[in-house]
Amino acid sequence: MFVDTHCHLDGEEFQTDREAVMQRAREAGCGAIFLPAIDLPSSEHIVSLCQQYPNYLYPMVGLHPEEVRADWREQLVQIKSILPSPFTHHPSTIIAIGEVGLDFYWSREFEHEQLEAFEEQVKWSVETRLPLMIHCRKAQNELVAILKRYARELPGGVFHCFTGNEKEAEELLQFERFVLGVGGVLTFKKSHLPEVLPQVVPLNRIVLETDAPYMAPVPMRGQRNEPAYVRYVLQRMAQAYGINEDELAAHTNENVERVFGVKL
Ligand SMILES: [Zn+2]
Repeated sequence: MFVDTHCHLDGEEFQTDREAVMQRAREAGCGAIFLPAIDLPSSEHIVSLCQQYPNYLYPMVGLHPEEVRADWREQLVQIKSILPSPFTHHPSTIIAIGEVGLDFYWSREFEHEQLEAFEEQVKWSVETRLPLMIHCRKAQNELVAILKRYARELPGGVFHCFTGNEKEAEELLQFERFVLGVGGVLTFKKSHLPEVLPQVVPLNRIVLETDAPYMAPVPMRGQRNEPAYVRYVLQRMAQAYGINEDELAAHTNENVERVFGVKL
């Protein structure tokens, strides 16, 4: 059994066959699916979708860096109102804040706003003790600088879709309670991850993900990704670390339980 820690199952790509996708996931050995939000509407949608499948779908809420625009403050006020308050102790099913982070790949138009929105959501993590699901592209220096200011108080989280080199992995792993999320890129022919990961990423610092519908692994590359395909990532990762798949699944599941406080 394994977990897909990052899947946009709420997306319109799954509108017509979401049940079948979940059925295939179960049959493939996927024991739970974690859903990151990207903005206010998706945060609300994901919370209600996950309520229909308790103990299988788990919701996150947050504002994705690529969704940070002029209205980011209003979005954050509304998203924050969905979060459990540390003062009221209302039971909540939300397992993490995400996905949040920085993305300067396409544009730096809202660079300043992205930095502010990320830092605000990092503070939520400290206040609520919910881990962070972090998206970072072409912005690791800026991201690390912000996280360093809160490093001691942060409960933990995932640097999702990690595709970097040894140095970048080590820099992220300095944040003790954080792990790297690895998906389909690991299986790509030209990927350096099969060499990088075993060298610098211990087995207690890594989790599995799809980022579906994106990033489908080989042999499904180019198609719509789905949680069942985590098994291809699991296979390739076990091979890279030189251990069997059950062992790798056990390690990554233990990491999932520790970081997200979820009992699988
Ligand atoms: Zn994502």
